[in-house]
Amino acid sequence: MKTIGVLGGMSWESSLEWYRLANQRVGELLGGHHSAKIVLDSVDFAEIEALQARGDWDAAGQLLADRAAALESAGAELLVLCTNTMHLVADRIRDAVGIPFLHIADVAASAVTSAGLTTVGLLGTAFTMEQPFYAERLAAHGIRTLIPDAEDRRAVHSIIYDELVHGVIRDESRRRFTEVIDRLVAAGAEGIILGCTEIELLVSADDAAVPVFPTTALHVEAAVTEALRDD
Ligand code: GLU
Repeated sequence: MKTIGVLGGMSWESSLEWYRLANQRVGELLGGHHSAKIVLDSVDFAEIEALQARGDWDAAGQLLADRAAALESAGAELLVLCTNTMHLVADRIRDAVGIPFLHIADVAASAVTSAGLTTVGLLGTAFTMEQPFYAERLAAHGIRTLIPDAEDRRAVHSIIYDELVHGVIRDESRRRFTEVIDRLVAAGAEGIILGCTEIELLVSADDAAVPVFPTTALHVEAAVTEALRDD
């Protein structure tokens, strides 16, 4: 089994879920007392959030690239970045290491394609929904992306930053997400990418009339598969 380098803390609420699911999955696959081999580097999310708010993607990219290199030095044999948003600087991170980097949008795209779908609704932070990096990555896999209207994007972004990253789960916010999902489906979305690692703490398959693609769970599955390849 390879050691997975986990660049997390964005937020720790979702990294905790990533860690739990990865260990659980290795246990299911290998049985006995097996668990995942992981080195974790968990950032102070306030530093990242401040750089996001300032739009200083260069500094954020440098910070995460340095931490990724440290994970490789600590023995990581493959690397995951446990946030969709910060994949905005994925190239910087990938260039800083010599180990494979599992891009979360590639993982999501592969699940969408396997389900036979070509048009998806994308939910995530304003950065993920509005900047081109994520939709372009999906487009490279032949997937068309729909995003919510401005008011719905504001609601989704606020629920993520004001509630989910703090571990606050509210039925009212789940209902708000369901409305946004319903509108995306009415606009033609055949599936919904939960393109923020905290959203699946709030929303599940039961909340949508179409398939949902939870990026934390899919990312874990891909990383564990890669870690166990050739064993
Ligand atoms: N975890 C979130 C994501 O997947 C948002 C927090 C962040 O900005 O990194 O995009």
